[in-house]
Amino acid sequence: MSAELIDGKKVAERIREDLKKEVDELKSRGINPGLAVVLVGENPASKKYVASKEKTCGEIGINSFGYKLPDTTTQKELLDLIDKLNADPKINGILVQLPLPKGLNEKEVMDRISPAKDVDGFGPDALGKLVLDEPGFIPCTPHGAMKMLEAYNINPAGKHAVVVGRSVIVGKPLALLLLRKNATVTICHSKTPNLKEECLKADILCVAVGRAKMITGDMVKQGAAVIDIGINVTPEGKIVGDVDFDAAKERAGYITPVPGGAGPMTIAMLMYNTVLAARMQAGMKVEI
Ligand code: NDP
Repeated sequence: MSAELIDGKKVAERIREDLKKEVDELKSRGINPGLAVVLVGENPASKKYVASKEKTCGEIGINSFGYKLPDTTTQKELLDLIDKLNADPKINGILVQLPLPKGLNEKEVMDRISPAKDVDGFGPDALGKLVLDEPGFIPCTPHGAMKMLEAYNINPAGKHAVVVGRSVIVGKPLALLLLRKNATVTICHSKTPNLKEECLKADILCVAVGRAKMITGDMVKQGAAVIDIGINVTPEGKIVGDVDFDAAKERAGYITPVPGGAGPMTIAMLMYNTVLAARMQAGMKVEI
């Protein structure tokens, strides 16, 4: 049996279409959502991500304001720019593309972003609200993973979900979101002694580690939904996830491809957060 493919590209397209309608409606009321995209240095992957985010803004009708800074930028210059963007009413969301070049203090920069404009959802305010189940910015990649499950009617309630990886931007928030949807959640990490055993319990298996093919076919429970968030480049230059896709698809019930799964969803959810920021800054009501 071969798993049903969870088509992140298609789900992301539907989300973008809905957001476009919402942006048109906001514009008719004089609200023009705007996103500042800050890129420091010449990291080729970062440049690609930024270009893709700016292009998606254009498709949806969100104003994007690009700030491309040289890698000689000082911490003070970057913090001054964040202060300026925090104060600019045309900017509803601020995205600083990570990683920053060596020598810059990422945490200090991210902490400087106003909580009202933290559309990446990485700051303490956003993460605190996530824990408290209050409306706020949900980090984009885990939010995208949840939206893919929803799109395929995979309801986490009563299921056993296993999240491999405990980063602040993916693993931990994803575990909280699954918990919010009433899954019983296990979080695994590099010190988990019996990873295979844990993974085999998963009705929903989410992996965010950054190691190609670390989840082999025999670690997947029959019929499980597998969400692969990893992005790895093979020596041949191919982009692959953390799951051995060909082997896992023979056991899983549903599986996301890499590329074409979590990646496009992450950008779609960034757009979602930017529209949410515009609504909140205009004093409109929002729900979680
Ligand atoms: P981090 O490096 O911050 O976290 C990796 C996690 O994996 C850590 O919690 C680590 O455990 C765990 N880990 C490492 N080795 C093992 C192991 N052998 N067994 C079990 N767990 C292990 O990565 P991110 O969360 O930022 O990213 C994870 C992956 O997702 C990367 O490939 C990244 O490129 C991708 N990604 C994709 C996005 C997208 O848009 N599709 C967006 C963001 C990330 P410990 O805490 O113990 O060190």
